Amino acid sequence: MIKLKNVTKIYKGDLFETVALKDVTLTVQEGEFVAIMGESGSGKTTLLNILGGMDRVTSGNYYLRDIAVHDCTPDKLDRLRREYISFIFQHFALMDEFSIYENIEAPLLARNIKKADRKHRIIDAVEKLNISDLLDKYPTQISGGQRQRVSLARALVTNCPIILADEPTGALDEQNTKNVMEQFVLLHKQKKTILVITHDHKVAEYAERVVVIKDGRMV
Ligand code: ADP
Ligand code: MG
Repeated sequence: MIKLKNVTKIYKGDLFETVALKDVTLTVQEGEFVAIMGESGSGKTTLLNILGGMDRVTSGNYYLRDIAVHDCTPDKLDRLRREYISFIFQHFALMDEFSIYENIEAPLLARNIKKADRKHRIIDAVEKLNISDLLDKYPTQISGGQRQRVSLARALVTNCPIILADEPTGALDEQNTKNVMEQFVLLHKQKKTILVITHDHKVAEYAERVVVIKDGRMV
């Protein structure tokens, strides 16, 4: 499903450049659950952003199914992202001025899903995640664990095949970490392809495979 071949990513600044990824080769099969570990600054987020089509390789190849992502035009990349990728972030990335319902609805609006279908998908997701009673609230009115469940709901409603999570439990306590990881396990059972960045060995244990990255290289 995902194939990176000799991927290098260089950020060019005015004074110097940073080599964030060096010659990374990685294959992830459809339905795999992979944890990515590594020290701060090792290139994990860069890797996830490239996989999610949020950033581009400097050199090397990235194939998603049979699509040559490294060659995609910006338009094609946008479409690819909408069709295939759901992102989950450490700090939830919810919009504070919108209700929980509206937050979960946002990716569906971006995909031109009809109103009745949107509602149906949202109700379904919040019931699964036990947050049906939060729909009228705002992000600042709910706890961290609840916010991460909202961001999971937002990732679920689009029904994308790939879920990319950047330290999704980094801001959560032990119990909420467990709850969130159990959701990932359920998603894995539903054949989603999941990549989770984490510092936490307990979190990595939920994955089938752990990939370690050091100074931009796979080790
Ligand atoms: P990690 O997620 O493992 O902490 P990152 O992928 O965020 O690591 O960063 C890898 C390296 O690339 C770091 O040296 C970081 O400073 C650099 N970097 C990341 N994003 C940018 C950017 N947008 N511009 C310049 N340098 C960046
Ligand atoms: Mg990071």
